[in-house]
Amino acid sequence: MELEPLNSSYDNLLKENREMRKKLNQYEKAYPAKECPVCGHKGIDFIPFPNIIHKEVICPTCHCHERQRALWLYFQKNKNLINDGTKILHFAPEKQFKELFTSKDTEYHTADFNPGDYADADEKIDIQDIPYDDNYFDLILCSHVLEHVPDDMRALRELRRVLKPKGIALIMVPMNGVSYNLPYDEFKTLEKDEYNTPELREKHYGQFDHLRLYGADFKQRIFESGFELLGEDFIKNLGLETIERYALVRNEKIYECTK
Ligand SMILES: [Zn+2]
Repeated sequence: MELEPLNSSYDNLLKENREMRKKLNQYEKAYPAKECPVCGHKGIDFIPFPNIIHKEVICPTCHCHERQRALWLYFQKNKNLINDGTKILHFAPEKQFKELFTSKDTEYHTADFNPGDYADADEKIDIQDIPYDDNYFDLILCSHVLEHVPDDMRALRELRRVLKPKGIALIMVPMNGVSYNLPYDEFKTLEKDEYNTPELREKHYGQFDHLRLYGADFKQRIFESGFELLGEDFIKNLGLETIERYALVRNEKIYECTK
């Protein structure tokens, strides 16, 4: 057996390494690394989610979605919302927020209609009929819940009822043209009685257990429920660089509601 001279095999190794680094550089330029503000993960390996327009949805380390990264940044900038004694109501609680919401001596309530199914919640609550007194909570977080609720207007009115005057309810919903790209008017919410099977709902609303496909007119429902809107463009206002860095969705709204 004839051995290759040592130098030539090292030269080949160097060549291979150079080519690999070149490819990697090209790839990193085409797909810049994203960063998760929640857990610190950095990489190009964020995971897509079925039917969602954007490619980089789920953080491979903490499994948070775009909206949770945005809310995380929101609370970093609004730390004054969480204080000793703050009464918090968190629907479909994202586990990423537990530490933050209990970092002070708060009264933290986690709620879901089916606790244990998707979210690990302590209280079984129908959002259309919230078992708390008027003006009870300082802070309510309700993200991607209303699209699962039969009477979302009633739910919005209930959220407003249990919120303290000057309290904050943060509401997010998936929307056509923002989360989904379905062939319907992006300004008008789509909800039809005949879309009544998981298959039809998946086809028309984007997910099997959604009861409607919201359009930009969702804001109208917020006003109709009596809420006052303090803001909606937190994400857009972060600027393009931050949006890209944290793999956020520029047009996604965080509705900051009060009364
Ligand atoms: Zn993460």
